[in-house]
Amino acid sequence: MTGTRTVNVDLAGRAYDVVVGEDVLKRAAEFVRPVLSDAGKVAVITDESVAKLHLPTLLAALDDAGIGHSEIIVPAGEATKNFQQLERVIDQLIEARIERGDAVIALGGGVVGDLAGFAAAILRRGVDVIQAPTTLLSQVDSSVGGKTAINTAHGKNLVGAFHQPRLVLADISALDTLPVREVRAGYAEAVKYGLIDDAELFAWYEENGARLFEGDRATLIEAVVASCQAKARVVVDDEREQGQRALLNLGHTFGHALEAEMGYGDGLLHGEGISIGLRMAFDFSARLGLCPQPDADRLRRHLESLQMPTKIGDIPGAAQVGSWDAARLLHHMRQDKKVVGGTLTFILARGIGEAYVTRDVREADVLAALEDEVL
Ligand code: NAD
Ligand code: MG
Repeated sequence: MTGTRTVNVDLAGRAYDVVVGEDVLKRAAEFVRPVLSDAGKVAVITDESVAKLHLPTLLAALDDAGIGHSEIIVPAGEATKNFQQLERVIDQLIEARIERGDAVIALGGGVVGDLAGFAAAILRRGVDVIQAPTTLLSQVDSSVGGKTAINTAHGKNLVGAFHQPRLVLADISALDTLPVREVRAGYAEAVKYGLIDDAELFAWYEENGARLFEGDRATLIEAVVASCQAKARVVVDDEREQGQRALLNLGHTFGHALEAEMGYGDGLLHGEGISIGLRMAFDFSARLGLCPQPDADRLRRHLESLQMPTKIGDIPGAAQVGSWDAARLLHHMRQDKKVVGGTLTFILARGIGEAYVTRDVREADVLAALEDEVL
């Protein structure tokens, strides 16, 4: 069995480890035991798909170590992040008598992580949550940082809490069963960290991205570790997104507009929107004369070389939603919860690895750029 790598998220008083490696779920008990009280038990929350694939491995590990457990299984998919499922989960956690000294384990992608994390945040005013992410997106992004949320009819992630996990268990072996579309979605968020402030990391992805898509374990571990280190740095500096944490939204203002237009369904995964959004953010920066065009071109070439989506035309159902309208995309951008006092916040770049936050963008320039993007 290979060893694991650990990234520490060094938040004062609430520091936690992200354990990354092969067969982490098989070995879960050795990491989980120390965060529980003596008679501590766990409630594992997972979705129907992950329950079939990876729940047995985790439960066997808990059984072997004599750690008591119950299971809560929710439907797979974004629609599960709602009040009704939250209530169901909370009721089952209360029936399972989950209290201080026990823990909720979120086994699954970002949907399970956000729902279970939020349930843990509000149950008895807060019980511990252990994130066990099983998608690349949740391993490189959502399991670290403590944001939890559900959606309402008015939009995504509108109700939630900051609730840092006690521990994150990122089992690279679990990614073996992940569909390639989901790998692409996670890859966009991973490569984003290089684009924000680490040109060397971006160059590493240019060299190793193809190996990652082949499922090479060492490459996946390296990418998850690099991502968690980058996210941990930002979160430790700005846990509640008063300032620099906003850099993590690189590509997201454009991406969200595309997601909103596609109706937040399976037609466009969040990470697919981010892939296109990253390329758009760089081309927009170049168009404004802020970023050298060759840097924007380099990003587009890299994404294309891995069959990552880079333009609206790459969205499979894009043509079916009717004609794309630049003004409507701009309207979606204004609905984003990052809009403060009516001013759009943009993450732009002066080059690869040189992103920055600005509210100094003219809507006319955004609109003109969008005119060139729409089909
Ligand atoms: P997801 O949780 O819906 O998982 C995607 C699909 O993959 C699901 O159908 C799931 O059942 C399946 N799946 C999960 N693990 C699998 C595996 N190992 N093998 C095969 N199938 C597997 O989606 P996601 O992309 O992981 O997360 C998206 C969610 O994360 C969104 O709701 C988003 O808002 C949220 N998010 C939160 C944060 C945060 O900081 N809290 C950050 C980014 C995204
Ligand atoms: Mg994102």
